Amino acid sequence: MKYINENEIFNIIKQAENYNEKEVIEILDKAKKLNRLSLKETAILLSVKEKELLNEIFNSAKYIKNKIYGKRVVLFAPLYISNYCVNHCVYCGFNCTNKETKRKALNIEEIKEQTLQLLKRGHMRILLVTGEGLDNNEKYINYLCDAIKAIYSVEFKGLKIKRININCAPLTKEHFQKLKDCGIGTYQLFQETYHEETYRKVHLKGPKSDADLRISALDKAFSVGIDDVGIGILFGLYDYKFEILAMLQHIEYLEKNYGVGPHTISVPRMEAAEGSDFASNPPCPPSDDDFRKIVAILRLAVPYTGLILSTRESAESRNELIDLGISQISAESCTSPGGYSDNDKSSAQFEISDKRSLDEIVDFLMTKDYTPSFCAACYRKGRTGDVFMHIAKPGNIKNKCEINSILTLKEYLMNFATKNTKEQGEIFIKKSLSEMDDETKEITLNLLKKIENGEKDIFV
Ligand code: SAM
Ligand code: SF4
Repeated sequence: MKYINENEIFNIIKQAENYNEKEVIEILDKAKKLNRLSLKETAILLSVKEKELLNEIFNSAKYIKNKIYGKRVVLFAPLYISNYCVNHCVYCGFNCTNKETKRKALNIEEIKEQTLQLLKRGHMRILLVTGEGLDNNEKYINYLCDAIKAIYSVEFKGLKIKRININCAPLTKEHFQKLKDCGIGTYQLFQETYHEETYRKVHLKGPKSDADLRISALDKAFSVGIDDVGIGILFGLYDYKFEILAMLQHIEYLEKNYGVGPHTISVPRMEAAEGSDFASNPPCPPSDDDFRKIVAILRLAVPYTGLILSTRESAESRNELIDLGISQISAESCTSPGGYSDNDKSSAQFEISDKRSLDEIVDFLMTKDYTPSFCAACYRKGRTGDVFMHIAKPGNIKNKCEINSILTLKEYLMNFATKNTKEQGEIFIKKSLSEMDDETKEITLNLLKKIENGEKDIFV
């Protein structure tokens, strides 16, 4: 596979087994200074088995998360607009051989209706998701662009969706340009597995079966100026140690060539999917303990990159993983097109584990002293790509997040929260203000007043 040197990775994994405690502590000290880790250093952390050292890893991950992002956790919802797909990925319910799934591509009115449903719950950030291809490429890109414009056009209580990220099939340069012109936030594309033989075994039909075409899609995105890209591994397909090191090789490649790594990393674990026996019995499922390690080590290895966790994980697991470095979570998700107003979920991609409402998740985050955030200020202020990284790498982005997250929380409480969450939220905001330095507190108080007086969508 392009950019990936498998032999190097296997050698590094083998050598890392001879680690000693001193090395581990030194690596954690380096990470705590917010430096990205090398493949070798990351492999050593991945080899750690001793309980005490593992706890050191978890504590370091918490420290780094707080240092870079502060208390905020960004909330979003996926919006599935079409489950037609030309590929046969053996793990996915949308795969083209699955005759059980009801196929559906939402029309523009239906997309607006779904957006309204999400806005009514209080969602301000959407991840648009589709299967690959409708009839032909031209029609596919026009459909995506029309969908994006439709989503941005919907208004509820004077509020609109603030940012649309998108997870869709690789496009041509020309089509990426069209997507950029529509105002997308992050372009997400998961390589699923960086292990070539496994990749071939699980992608049987369609354009996605070409691993190099997929991995080089991000180059095309960068070439037209889409500089917030999201990457990910579908955990369960192959050995997680290999996958993480290979993903780091990919990141090194992006940094070398574009001066900036991925904006986000997603960590989906394979879930059961109707129409896929494979998904119920993945070959290399990481245990819950492995998964905690994966999240914490990713936070240490690439400290400045957002880590996204979806509702594929259970509520209990998500509650724990947020402490270890997750910075964005989806909430009240549905993976079937039309699912936000439709009770028929027979066209879903995979099963959801965390079924809590957005309001319950907002409330829960606050009880853990995290600030639920609906902010999209960076993207709207042009803080993307290396501009964002220059602020994030030394740990300065949290100064903005601290203010913006409180402002968006206030807006949520005023417009969408249940009585109990509203009460808890007001107490939480008071407490957060009391923890701010004088200057930040004054700016935040002034902006909060404007929101109370009816101004909408304020950010710094
Ligand atoms: N069709 C596009 C693609 O494959 O890149 C984008 C949408 S696809 C629905 C988004 C992601 O869903 C895939 O990249 C894959 O990682 C994930 N996925 C597919 N089947 C899954 C399953 N059974 N459990 C968890 N995640 C799954
Ligand atoms: Fe299609 Fe994406 Fe599912 Fe593969 S993962 S079958 S490309 S929707």
